[in-house]
Amino acid sequence: MKGLVYKSTGSWYTVKTENGKTYECRIKGKFRLKGIKSTNPIAVGDHVDFELETKNDTETGVINYIHDRKNYIVRKSVNLSKQTHVIASNIDQVFLLVTINNPPTFTSFIDRFLVTAEAYSIKTILLFNKIDVYDKETLDEVRYLAHVYRSIGYECIGISATTGKNVEKVKSMMQDKVSMFAGHSGVGKSTLVNAIEPNLDLKTKEISTQHSQGQHTTTFAEMFDLSFNAKIIDTPGIKGFGIVDMEKEEVSDYFPEFFALKQDCKFNNCLHIEEPKCAIKKAVENDEIAYSRYRSYVSIIEGEDEHYRTDNYN
Ligand code: GDP
Ligand code: ZN
Repeated sequence: MKGLVYKSTGSWYTVKTENGKTYECRIKGKFRLKGIKSTNPIAVGDHVDFELETKNDTETGVINYIHDRKNYIVRKSVNLSKQTHVIASNIDQVFLLVTINNPPTFTSFIDRFLVTAEAYSIKTILLFNKIDVYDKETLDEVRYLAHVYRSIGYECIGISATTGKNVEKVKSMMQDKVSMFAGHSGVGKSTLVNAIEPNLDLKTKEISTQHSQGQHTTTFAEMFDLSFNAKIIDTPGIKGFGIVDMEKEEVSDYFPEFFALKQDCKFNNCLHIEEPKCAIKKAVENDEIAYSRYRSYVSIIEGEDEHYRTDNYN
């Protein structure tokens, strides 16, 4: 049987088949995914094959195969093993909610988020929320930012979760897809999800579990079916995509407008900081690349000593 993992609680996985039947499944014996060193072999969003087992009149499943993931998001394990924990997989798109004030969302945050999403191959859509309360100046700022990010290829929509402005548009974009919502606390994620699906009761609190290493907090993602043939992955307590450790030279690959130009730099290992005849710096001077984007790039390059981390925590 084939199914999709909706929930994981450590040793048991809730798997739903195409005809909507749900089975509690587990893994038999040692079962490790090639290439990924993670504390959990199976994550929410995984497509799996399983066999049914009947014991004492209850039907459960044994997972024997995981289909290739198109993407996945991780967080570093809390203990010192340096292993990662896969939070969720096969995410079609993430909606990043941005507000200009109450709370402010800075471009440095947006850009770090987008770099991580690019590194994870996850499509991001920017939702500028709370446009119902902005004055003219603030709306101009929304228009400017939307222009910057649209010109790089990110879809941008001004919305109001409270008045419902463009909420139908967001819903139509969610159809037949697995979506996630992200953004600082207070930007309106719960309000928007509630406007999209009023009776969905997403958990917002972290779940605490006892581990052999001692007490620490673990969060479990969960997938939900919405009434209009869309799926949401809720990640209680997880504010970003975790951390991507990347090489210095790699960072500009995840700034699409830099990536498009970098073959024009004089040096093929150009970091676009101090090198002469740099196509990126030239584009910044000519206003073809937004200065805020370049500033975010420099802060990622210069921000850390050993690895170039893009934490999305807010
Ligand atoms: P979350 O932390 O991202 O889930 O944010 P919430 O959904 O809890 O919203 C935080 C606050 O912003 C609440 O007081 C909401 O009523 C308010 N809010 C959310 N969306 C909007 C909006 O579109 N317009 C206005 N004016 N307020 C909003
Ligand atoms: Zn360069």
